[in-house]
Parts: sequence; structure tokens; C-alpha cells
Amino acid sequence: KSVKKGFDFTLMVAGESGLGKSTLVNSLFLTDLYKDRKLLNAEERITQTVEITKHTVDIEEKGVKLKLTIVDTPGFGDAVNNTECWKSVADYIDQQFEQYFRDESGLNRKNIQDNRVHCCLYFISPFGHGLRPLDVEFMKALHEKVNIVPILAKADTLTPSEVKKKKIKAKEIEQYGIKIYQFPDCDSDEDEDFKQQDTELKESIPFAVIGSNTVVEAKGKRVRGRLYPWGIVEVENSAHCDFVKLRNMLVRTHMQDLKDVTRETHYENYRAHCIQSMTRMVVKERNRNKLTRESGTDFPIPVVPGVADSETEKLIKEKDEEVRHADHEPDSHQQHDHEHKSEHNFDHHEHSDTQPNLETPFDYKGDEAL
Ligand code: GDP
Repeated sequence: KSVKKGFDFTLMVAGESGLGKSTLVNSLFLTDLYKDRKLLNAEERITQTVEITKHTVDIEEKGVKLKLTIVDTPGFGDAVNNTECWKSVADYIDQQFEQYFRDESGLNRKNIQDNRVHCCLYFISPFGHGLRPLDVEFMKALHEKVNIVPILAKADTLTPSEVKKKKIKAKEIEQYGIKIYQFPDCDSDEDEDFKQQDTELKESIPFAVIGSNTVVEAKGKRVRGRLYPWGIVEVENSAHCDFVKLRNMLVRTHMQDLKDVTRETHYENYRAHCIQSMTRMVVKERNRNKLTRESGTDFPIPVVPGVADSETEKLIKEKDEEVRHADHEPDSHQQHDHEHKSEHNFDHHEHSDTQPNLETPFDYKGDEAL
């Protein structure tokens, strides 16, 4: 069905500017997405706030259509004060969830445009000593909203042993409690070759990549690469970098899983939080009305008649318990899902009693705020 209809996929690139994000995107999808890009000078960059840009391109290969959207976060890390520079990126992701939630709750649910961000390639600088505080803060702010795939940028500036060391350092991500995208377990009945490829893929994280906008001649062949006085680095040569692994993972092997995890985990979390806050608001409003002895309420969210306030709270508690309980289930794939899920999760039917308040913007600030 998807092959017939075409795929849509939204990829976000984030990380300090100048790390080769635009070049990598062009290399990945063989397009020039940044034709109109205006690079700002230092003075302009001081005053600039993080501005999110979106490029959409339709790609067709062997009759299969892909509507690719790239969300870029230029200027990130450029300002003198980078405090909370990830906020606008986190807000952007939430806004897409919010839009989807509104559309899904509207009358015409058939042709919803899905702008939810399915994957965020986070670029780590090859020049520092491992992760910088900004990297940690950024990933922490986003890891429960989007699938983060870390990338070691400009791998051609490193020797093989440096790449190895940097990869070990970058694996510290998990020590900070950051949950990056977890590649699903390989089925036990897959053939040995596939299993081997899958293991290599998982071991490659963070993917050490090289990008180039130019085609050069290497050993009589024209290849995408970078020409240096001492030789040529080839983008698509797996002895030189993990570019091919990253591309295969994004457009062939894991695109659907990235979309599934976005829908089933990140969006579900957002939705659950919204429904929960709305239910709480209804309960509060009804209590207030009771206290002021008002007969009616102008609160726009309808509530199922006959459900007492304490019962609504009880239902929420029961659901919380259920989700907490499910977190301890042994099934490995399930675990993968739940690891990303927050404590509260709701099912469509159970909460058909609450319709989103379409007048009020959803105020979702993640677990901590609640
Ligand atoms: P962005 O600001 O993160 O989008 O970075 P750009 O893609 O504009 O790249 C910034 C500079 O780095 C440009 O001069 C690129 O030619 C160069 N560059 C991009 N990718 C690589 C790479 O993989 N290796 C090296 N050595 N330089 C790169």
C-alpha cells in the first residue's frame, strides 16, 4: 500500500552549525536542498535566534515515491549564550504533534498531513573530546519526543583509531540517561548474513560520516568524495566511513520502524499527556463550579455524563498502574517500546469521553512539568 501511495518521511538535522549537516543531507538524497541558503556573518549570527527551516522534496526511485521533509536548525550553538537553544526545536516537535492531534480529533481524519518528526540526526563534533554539555542538554531535551540517531561528523578529519575512541566516548550518551533510538532486535529466524549486518549496524553507532557535494574521479570511477592533496575520501566507501550504513538504515531498513516508534511511543506520550491535562482541567473546573454553585459550565470539553470526578481520577490511577505494570513485561520488543513510554498511556476507546479543547493550545512540557 505504502509503495503504491508513496512514503512520507520527516528528518530533522541538528547540531552545531558548520558540522556538515547540509552537505550530508544533499549527499544522502542526491539533491540540492539548500539552493537558497543564506549564510550569515558573525555579527548577524550573534543576534540571530535559532530559526527552523523546512525543505520538502519529492524523490522517486524505481517508481516508488518518497516525500522527504528536512527540518533544519541553523544557527544552533552559534550564539554567545546558548542557554535553552534547544527549546525552539523541542517546541517545533511538539507543535507538529499538536497539529496532528487536532487534525486527528477533527471531522476530516482521512487526509491528515503528517508532519511529525520521525528521526533527528544529531551531529557530534569530531574536534572536541567527546560530548559537550550542549550536546547532552540538547539530547536530554529531545529524547522523549523524537528518535535521536547520533552522528559523528566529518569523519575524514579523524584517523581510524580516533574514530574508534570518539565512538566509545559518544557512547557515554547512555550514562547521562539519554535514550537514543533503539534499533529493534533482529528476528531469530533471519539468515546469518542479515544478523551479521544487523550487529555491525548497531555497533557502528554513532555513525561516522563524511559528506560531499562534489563528484571526483577515483581509480577511474566517478564517485562522490572529497579531494585532498594526499588523496580522495569516498563518501560511499564503507572502509572510509559509515555513510552507506546510515543511508540504508534511513531509507531502506528502518524507515518504517522510525515512523512506528514515532507514532506508537513519542506521539502516544504526547497524546496521553494532553488527554490527562485536559481531564484534570475538566475535574478542576467542575469542582470549582460546584463550589461556586454554578449550574452550568462554559468549559468546551464534553464529559461523559454519569462519570463522577473521583471515578475519573480513579480511572487515571488504574491506567497508570496498568502501564507501570506493563513496563515490567519480559517481551523484548515490547520493552523497547515501553522504554520510550512515559508513565501515562491511554487508549483511544478508554478516553473517547474527552475531546480535545480546540480553543486552548496544549501546554505540554514533558514528564517533569507534570
Ligand atoms: P552545516 O552548517 O552543518 O550545514 O554545514 P555545511 O554542510 O554547510 O558544511 C560546512 C563546511 O564543512 C563546508 O565547507 C563543507 O564543505 C564542509 N564539510 C561538509 N561535510 C564535510 C565532511 O564530511 N568532511 C569535511 N572535512 N568537511 C565537510
